[in-house]
Amino acid sequence: MSAALPIIDSGPSERGWSYYSTVLRCPQLFYWKYVYPKIATRPTTFSDYTEPLARGTIFHVAAAHHYARMWARAHGKNEDLVCPPEVAMKIAASKIGELGEERLPIVQAMWSAYLQRYPVETFEVVAVEQPAEVLIEGIRLTARIDLIVKEPTGRIFIYDHKSSARMESKVMRRYTLHGQRFGLELLGRKLYGDQFGGVVINHITEDCEFIRKSSEPAPWMARKFPLTITLAAALIESLTAKCGTDPDAWPAFPSDQSCYGPYGACPAIPICQWGPTT
Ligand code: SF4
Repeated sequence: MSAALPIIDSGPSERGWSYYSTVLRCPQLFYWKYVYPKIATRPTTFSDYTEPLARGTIFHVAAAHHYARMWARAHGKNEDLVCPPEVAMKIAASKIGELGEERLPIVQAMWSAYLQRYPVETFEVVAVEQPAEVLIEGIRLTARIDLIVKEPTGRIFIYDHKSSARMESKVMRRYTLHGQRFGLELLGRKLYGDQFGGVVINHITEDCEFIRKSSEPAPWMARKFPLTITLAAALIESLTAKCGTDPDAWPAFPSDQSCYGPYGACPAIPICQWGPTT
């Protein structure tokens, strides 16, 4: 029966950090992710999924259903109306396709270890996969917040689930100057004001190591973050006006930084090498 229960959407939000950061990484990738799907007349073979993204997506789905059931229990609701995480993971993996099915056993092991590591939580679940929005100089920045919790102190924290293959020192450092955390901080302050305690990275690895850590302070970059969003929005507007829906017209930033990021190779590499086939 549980397979028929609706699955909580843990995907990217419409105008999230991923949307703006993609054009800054490479306008050509922005074209394939956000322009082409709107004009494609038949299903496209372009898939944004890389191995790390597939792993992260399945893990997010498990966590979303786990904490939604916890919220239901705490509020006297029927938790069985929320799909069990183990079932939701399988559904998420099959939606991703071959790559998802391949990653599923690894994430199942990670999930099982996560439950052993955190059998009881000290916080109260406030919301799961909560849509939120803030305006930056009239530009929408949205997010689907993984998890919002209230600690016994009464302070509210945003938990951002992250996964990686291994726990290396640079893994946590990478989130210090990450646009997503600055966006989440803006949203947290907008939603909860002084009650907001910050963003906590809830990190898990394929080796089943875990860490929960508040983002290190980065006040200078936090002040500059609105400039990043306004620049990206202006770039999107100008490229859309100039290049329309023609992939040949959209510029590219081919470099080892853009084409081979920390989350794997850009999925558009085959297209960029030979050109679109349709
Ligand atoms: S392969 Fe490189 S140049 Fe092509 S879309 Fe991806 S990041 Fe841009």
